[in-house]
Amino acid sequence: MYKNESMAEYEYCIISQFDDKIHEACGVFGVYNNDDLDVARLVYFGLYALQHRGQESCGIAVNQDGEITGHKGMGLVSEVFTERILDRLDGKMAIGHTRYSTTGGSSIENCQPLIARYKDGRMAIAHNGNLVNASKIRLEFENQGAIFQTSTDSEVIANLISRHGLKCRNLEEALIKTMEIIEGSYSLIIMTSNKLAGIRDPWGIRPLCIGKLYNSYILASETCALEAVGAEFIRDVEPGEIVFIEGDSIRSIKTNYNKPHRLCIFEHIYFARPDSFIDGASIYNARIEAGRLLAIQHPVDADLVVGVPDSGITAAIGFSRQSGIPYGEALIKNRYVGRTFIQPNQKMREQSVNIKLNALRTEIEGKRIVLIDDSIVRGTTTKKIVQMLKNAGAKEVHMRISSPPVKFPCYFGIDIASKEHLIAANHTIEEIRDVIGADSLGFLSVENLLESPVGAPKNSFCTACFTGDYPINVPQGISEKQNCERFGY
Ligand code: SF4
Repeated sequence: MYKNESMAEYEYCIISQFDDKIHEACGVFGVYNNDDLDVARLVYFGLYALQHRGQESCGIAVNQDGEITGHKGMGLVSEVFTERILDRLDGKMAIGHTRYSTTGGSSIENCQPLIARYKDGRMAIAHNGNLVNASKIRLEFENQGAIFQTSTDSEVIANLISRHGLKCRNLEEALIKTMEIIEGSYSLIIMTSNKLAGIRDPWGIRPLCIGKLYNSYILASETCALEAVGAEFIRDVEPGEIVFIEGDSIRSIKTNYNKPHRLCIFEHIYFARPDSFIDGASIYNARIEAGRLLAIQHPVDADLVVGVPDSGITAAIGFSRQSGIPYGEALIKNRYVGRTFIQPNQKMREQSVNIKLNALRTEIEGKRIVLIDDSIVRGTTTKKIVQMLKNAGAKEVHMRISSPPVKFPCYFGIDIASKEHLIAANHTIEEIRDVIGADSLGFLSVENLLESPVGAPKNSFCTACFTGDYPINVPQGISEKQNCERFGY
């Protein structure tokens, strides 16, 4: 069981439900210690580097001589863990998780890593992604009398592993059988009494990579977390691959599902940190290239290029380099607005942009501004920022977006729940321009977006939220309404 499970569960007003950004699902990190490492602190720092992937809750589970314990709580890594808590978490292996809730609501029981007992002892699971058939499997199990402690699909995975564990000769077989049943996106780190396993779904929708620190092995959602703890990048886990780490050996099983590689393109647009590489492609370079291609696709006469902090800045630099229009820092972000930022109604939601961002009048006054952001979801925040620039004296504001219009819901772990919430699903580009009050508006095309991750094959990405072309058949059982409920809309 988790230590200190009674930790205060705050009355959170989850920021994602009130702002206009797309939010990521989760970050995972694990270490198999073959040295004399402080595994809990190592995971703590790894999670710190992955905090951008989920800010609702986090947890660390450690394995001490086969016994798995942990600590988890609602809040940021810095809020949930103290020196005293980390001192208590000692062991040979550890895994950690930062969460943004997808399937399952935002509550302490849904925090991960999930620790479960099965016939071979205990296991802990950290999951980034979302299964599209979890509800169906859960219902079947419940009809057979199974009890679930959480509403997450990660517990469905734990149940499947446990059930297959009864019939299979070993964990390897149980994991392969489980992968034959689950559908959707999953990057998993599983810790058992004696090994660490890393698994990436057959489409490779979410990232997972392997690193090495001295003689110890690390699994992480992004390479930035490896660098944060001084580990060297070894390679990405391949789509459909299971890696087992035990002692000083890494063993790989490549499942043969023959699915096309479909990394979520939003990892490049927004989710991943710019200093990360995924499947060999630099996130920073992809954003620079997206900005460069945007400048070619939608040129404009202007005096200054401004990026919306932080997500639009790298693409703005690319736009500036290509267009020759100087880049300037004209929007100042308050870096101390945390996730517990409470905005109880729509009116205050719009006001919140003033609290998070402010315009630098001396840079803006009398100028024609090109404003770059990574995406437009509802349009409410964009409208407010355009207005803010005009109030600060901008002569013109030309909005440029480094991704195509988001028109379709995501079923793979990102909170784009329903068309109803997407301005581009219900309006033409000219109507959106009018709503946000910009002088012109241009989106990057899907073709140019697929060119931006330099070195990656164009057909290796999921672009479903732009095109409606889902890599996995979304079962009819998941309606947009249910998808919304999963995200708490
Ligand atoms: S639908 Fe969009 S957000 Fe979801 S996995 Fe595909 S590209 Fe990513």
